Amino acid sequence: MDLNSFPRVALCHRPTPLEPLRRLSEQVGGPAIFVKRDDCTGLALGGNKARKLEFLVAEALAQGCDTLVTIGGLQSNHCRQTAAAAAKCRLSCELILPHLAKFSSTTYETSGNVLLDQLFGATLHIVPSMEAAAGRSKQVLDAIRGRGEKPYFIPAGGSTALGALGYVDAARELFEQAAALQLKIDHIIVTTGSSTTHAGLVVGFHALELTQPGYQAPPVTGISVYQREQPATALVRQRARETAELLGISTAGLDERVVVTDAYLGRGYGEPTMGMVEAVQLTARLEGLLLDPVYTGKTMAGLIDRARQGLFSPSANIVFMHTGGMPALFAYRDAFAPMLETGSS
Ligand SMILES: *Cc1c(COP(=O)(O)O)cnc(C)c1O
Repeated sequence: MDLNSFPRVALCHRPTPLEPLRRLSEQVGGPAIFVKRDDCTGLALGGNKARKLEFLVAEALAQGCDTLVTIGGLQSNHCRQTAAAAAKCRLSCELILPHLAKFSSTTYETSGNVLLDQLFGATLHIVPSMEAAAGRSKQVLDAIRGRGEKPYFIPAGGSTALGALGYVDAARELFEQAAALQLKIDHIIVTTGSSTTHAGLVVGFHALELTQPGYQAPPVTGISVYQREQPATALVRQRARETAELLGISTAGLDERVVVTDAYLGRGYGEPTMGMVEAVQLTARLEGLLLDPVYTGKTMAGLIDRARQGLFSPSANIVFMHTGGMPALFAYRDAFAPMLETGSS
């Protein structure tokens, strides 16, 4: 497996730190929790999309494209990082932003990632639904071609096998960091959204097991924040297979490595849960570490719940993948308002 044969643009601070969360570990009474700080990837306040965009934008440049076009919910972190990558790489950027979450407010519609998309100079197309987004994407692509320009379309979340290579590489990075610390990783917890962060990690550790004599890959559990368990699992498996095929490595046993739970999804994508609010607050107050309301807050709620249930051995080393998303905290201030009132009384 050689990632060097794929063109890549430098957009990302790598390696990101791997740090212990000692107070949180103590609080949940058990396993040692570590955080892989992919909120610190650098690009436009950081987050997981930077690693995917290194490969996707390189392909756009290699094809001579001049405009990045992508889709994401109104508060999409992927769209914000794509807009920043476009600016840095002298590309135009058009964002199709369906209003996906039922949660809404004036701050939701204007603050957080929406504000940042505008600062990066992207053109925003806000539409009411995913169905409307498909139609608008086609119109936007046609209009760009009609002007004699060349668009490069990135699916929602940068979710292609090429994008997943960013997380195949992150698995290698994590493997090397853990080895340097003589840390045996027993379990990895990651958010499953559009799927390729999870799929890339699974393929990356699968590949390490195939090439490192005696190495046993840690299980990776995905906490779904976007859809129910079955479609989420099927999607991660499909992307994992595509990614392994792109790399030319065996897909034997790959499906079995993909485990997703929807137990922390609540009422749906972008809808706050009590567990999320508690996890964001606890992590902030014990570790001085910010999570986000849509992805990592729910994922940490899952990790905390499982630790409290005693599902991890007390001596286990758990790695929480922090995939970023903090700009959305500002858009979700209303979800935290009751908690903050209690906190200040
Ligand atoms: C997009 C995103 C995820 C989900 O990653 P996928 O690769 O889409 O599954 C997780 N966390 C944050 C903060 C994100 O923006």
